[in-house]
Amino acid sequence: MESKKARLDRFVATRLGINRKDVRVMLAKQRIRVDGALASHINQVVDQFSVVCVDGETLQDNHPIYLMMNKPVGVVSATKDDQHKTVIDLLDKDKYPDLHIVGRLDLNSSGLLLLTNHGEWSRSLTSPEKKVSKVYEVQLEKPVSDECIRTFAEGIYFPFEDIKTLPAGLERISDTLVRVSLMEGKYHQIKRMFGRFRNPVLALHRLSIGSVQLDSELQPGDSRELTASEVERLTMDGLTVERAL
Ligand code: URA
Repeated sequence: MESKKARLDRFVATRLGINRKDVRVMLAKQRIRVDGALASHINQVVDQFSVVCVDGETLQDNHPIYLMMNKPVGVVSATKDDQHKTVIDLLDKDKYPDLHIVGRLDLNSSGLLLLTNHGEWSRSLTSPEKKVSKVYEVQLEKPVSDECIRTFAEGIYFPFEDIKTLPAGLERISDTLVRVSLMEGKYHQIKRMFGRFRNPVLALHRLSIGSVQLDSELQPGDSRELTASEVERLTMDGLTVERAL
């Protein structure tokens, strides 16, 4: 089942290849359980993680999976690609089937990438209104000017999309190494923003998404499941509409 919700009668009817009238009879005979409890309404809503049993037989028993990966350079943030290895190829597919990416990184970018099978969760984290902040360490070819820092904070107009970027944080670590905080994720955004200052990006590494940082123990290409606290913090980040940089 996709992340979409469904009415119980529709779900059971589809799964068993029967009509909805028969499901109603099953329900009246107390043959259907959802999450361990007897189902009582045909219009009860089930989602991809509801455990649905009929006559003790499980029709669906999915668990949400949340992973963080240290994405290496040269691997595509996609589920399929004809030319390059994908981040999905780096995972054990039997253990982690059906994962999708929560906010991509470019082929030559590295760092924190989240993967999940929970569509609603990933949508809330990537939705533009939620303004979840992402922090990147960026190695530049040339030193960063004060004007560049000011312009990042004011926003930059991108004529192609006819949008102005949201205020972005830009902090110098050294002349050419900076930390950038974004509340959105337009196509090649950081490279294009520095492109305005004719300052090529040599390396780009994502350090954090919302309140969760890349685990420093994770080697490039490695991944691990998020802890319960990380899932909870990211869930809260995805629920919060306004946030400051
Ligand atoms: N901005 C970019 O230009 N590339 C990324 O991978 C992420 C943000």
